Amino acid sequence: MDMQTILREAGIAGAGGAGFPCYAKQAPGRADTLVINAAECEPLLYTDFTLLRERLADVVAGGEALAQAEGIGRVILATERKKAGALGLSDGDELGPKTVFRILPDAYPMGDEISLIWQTTGRLVSPGQLPISRGVIVQNTETILQILGALQNGTPVTRKWLTVAGDVRTPAVLCVPVGTPVRELFAYLGIEVPQEHIVLDGGPAMGRPVDWESAVVKKTTKGITLLPPEAEAARKARRTSRGNRGVAVTACCQCTRCTDLCPRHLLGYPLEPHRMVRAAAAGNIDPVLVRTATLCCGCGICETVACSQGISPRMVIADFKEQLRREKMAFSSPQGAVYTPSAQRDYRLVPGARMADLLGVSRFDRKPARMPDGYLPSRVEIPLAGHIGLPSVPVVSPGDRVREGQVIAQAAEGLSLPQHASVSGRVLLVLPDKIIIEREA
Ligand code: SF4
Ligand code: SF4
Repeated sequence: MDMQTILREAGIAGAGGAGFPCYAKQAPGRADTLVINAAECEPLLYTDFTLLRERLADVVAGGEALAQAEGIGRVILATERKKAGALGLSDGDELGPKTVFRILPDAYPMGDEISLIWQTTGRLVSPGQLPISRGVIVQNTETILQILGALQNGTPVTRKWLTVAGDVRTPAVLCVPVGTPVRELFAYLGIEVPQEHIVLDGGPAMGRPVDWESAVVKKTTKGITLLPPEAEAARKARRTSRGNRGVAVTACCQCTRCTDLCPRHLLGYPLEPHRMVRAAAAGNIDPVLVRTATLCCGCGICETVACSQGISPRMVIADFKEQLRREKMAFSSPQGAVYTPSAQRDYRLVPGARMADLLGVSRFDRKPARMPDGYLPSRVEIPLAGHIGLPSVPVVSPGDRVREGQVIAQAAEGLSLPQHASVSGRVLLVLPDKIIIEREA
C-alpha cells in the first residue's frame, strides 16, 4: 500500500488544530525538508511539551520514517527556548540520522506554519502558496506519532492528547478517546463550570468558544480552556462581528500599529490590517485588497497587542475571509512580485509571556498534572466533519456493535478522511454530523 493510502486509511488529520488531512500534504520527491512543529506558543497549553518529554524517541522515529518513505533528506524538530531548556535539548542537537533539533524564540505565534518555516529554514513561502512550493512539509508533533502508528501497525486515530487549562484547580494533560464529551471529561477531572465562564476549544489566544455541555474532543483539539468572564481572552471570545464593526467605524484612528506588528506583514506579506479596517468602516471594498484577507493566520496580535481602541482587525478580516471562501476566491500574487521580510521583524516579535499577560491568563499558567492513561467516557460522539474537506460517510447503523479501531464512516470522494470507533460498544445514533457510540465493557 502506498504512503498516501496508509495515512488516509488511518484517518490522520493535522492534530495541531488545523485538521488538514495528513495524506494530502505528502508529495513524494518534492520535499527536501520535514519540519516537526512542536512550537506550542498558545499560552497555557503543554500538550506537545508532554509528548516530547515522554515520547521524544518515538517522535524522532516517526519523523525519520516519514522522511525515509518520502525521500526527504532532513528533519527539523523545533520548539521554543523555554521548553527546550526544560527538556534538556540544545540548538543543533542531532537526534537521529536525519533529525536536528532547533530552538525557536519564545514568541507568539511561532507555531504558525509560515513563521515556523522561515524561522527554521530561512525559506519564505510566497503569499498564497503552500509550504511544498519551497520544498517543505510541516507536521505537528502528535500527527507524527499518529503517522508512526499507521506506518508500523496500521493503527488508526482513536485517541487525542490535550491540555485542560485555565481557571481550574489543577490543569491536566491527558490522552482520551476521540469524541469524548467535554462534560464527561470535566466530571472526571472534578471541574465545575461557573455560569459566566467561557470554555474554549484550544488555547486563550486562538481557541474557539464552545458550549461545553455539548462539545466533544475532536481530532484537532489540543486544549480545552476554561476562562472567567473578566479575562481579556474571554472578553475577546464574546465579541460579535457587528459590535466590532461598530467600534471600527467610530474609533479607528489609522495609527497602523496593527499592521506594524502583524507577523505576516513582517514577513513581507501584503497584508495590512489597518487598511482592511478602513475599508470595512467605509464600506468601500477594493477587490484586490480584500483578497489579502486569505493571508491572515488569525493569530490576533492586531487585536490583543496592537490596537488601543478596542478594535479587532482579526475579526474584520475573518468576515472578509468568510465571504471569499463562499465565493471561492483566493489571493493571487501579481506576476514578478518579490516578497522580503522586514528588517524590523526580529525586534517586533511578541514575547509569549507578554501575550499571556495581555490575554489576562498569566495567573493560570501552572505546570499541569499528567493524568493516567486509560480514561474512557461512557459514550463518544465522533464528528463526521472534524477535518478540512468533505465530511465522512457513515457505514454503520444504530444498534450495530463496533470494536475500537473499526471504520464507522468512510472517506467521501475528494479531500476527506474515514472515521474509526474510538471505543468498543453499540452505535446509539447516526446523525448528519456525528456518530454516537455507547461504550460497552
Ligand atoms: S491599531 Fe486599531 S486604531 Fe490603529 S489602525 Fe489598527 S485598528 Fe485602527
Ligand atoms: S490576526 Fe491580525 S496580526 Fe494576526 S495575521 Fe491576521 S491581521 Fe496579522
